[in-house]
Amino acid sequence: MIPPYAAIIVAAKTRTPDEVATVIEAGATHIGENYVQEGMQMQTSLGPKARDITWHMIGHLQKNKISKALRTFDVIQSVDSVDRARAIDARVEPAGKQIAPILVEINIGSEEAKAGLSPDEHEPFEEYMEQCAEEISRLEHVRLEGLMTMGPRVGNPEESRPYFRRVKKIFDQISALRLDRVDMRYLSMGMTNSYHIALEEGANMVRIGTAIFGERG
Ligand SMILES: *Cc1c(COP(=O)(O)O)cnc(C)c1O
Repeated sequence: MIPPYAAIIVAAKTRTPDEVATVIEAGATHIGENYVQEGMQMQTSLGPKARDITWHMIGHLQKNKISKALRTFDVIQSVDSVDRARAIDARVEPAGKQIAPILVEINIGSEEAKAGLSPDEHEPFEEYMEQCAEEISRLEHVRLEGLMTMGPRVGNPEESRPYFRRVKKIFDQISALRLDRVDMRYLSMGMTNSYHIALEEGANMVRIGTAIFGERG
């Protein structure tokens, strides 16, 4: 169902450490958390089981949580501005790291309630995204590793196809620039209801909660 080249990020929000421990025992290697605090608590609860996991920040990152996020997560997928990337850059060395892998989050449906860079606010968007990548590539302690998108909330997941396709195109455009410290490896798109469409449109990283754990309570 999910091809072997695609990474599965287990979206752990609202789940207990026991539930997450079970998926780790079943072979999960990437876990995503929406809040820094919850990621820290989950790691503490999991103890040694947390060690071989790659931890992804997938929720909105507040400025005052960046240092903690850097200590807690291996990848920050929710960078939603060049400014935020700069703020991360400044905190990488103090957090004891050399370089922080990040993805830039795109709000491809330009939805008001969603985080991420949105086409409506930055036209022409394709050019804007190229500029963002260029600016981020100048930051010495940040490595842009791809793009993340939620996709718009739609009734029928098939309707998200053109949005995913547009993000993939932007992903390819940025890759083609061959910028320093930019290594476009991950296209993180698709959740329980949309991952099959996202994979068809080029995602190689999907973030799944409900299909793994069941409906959230
Ligand atoms: C909750 C969440 C997911 C997973 O959603 P499901 O519909 O439960 O699979 C993926 N990405 C983000 C950013 C999330 O917050």
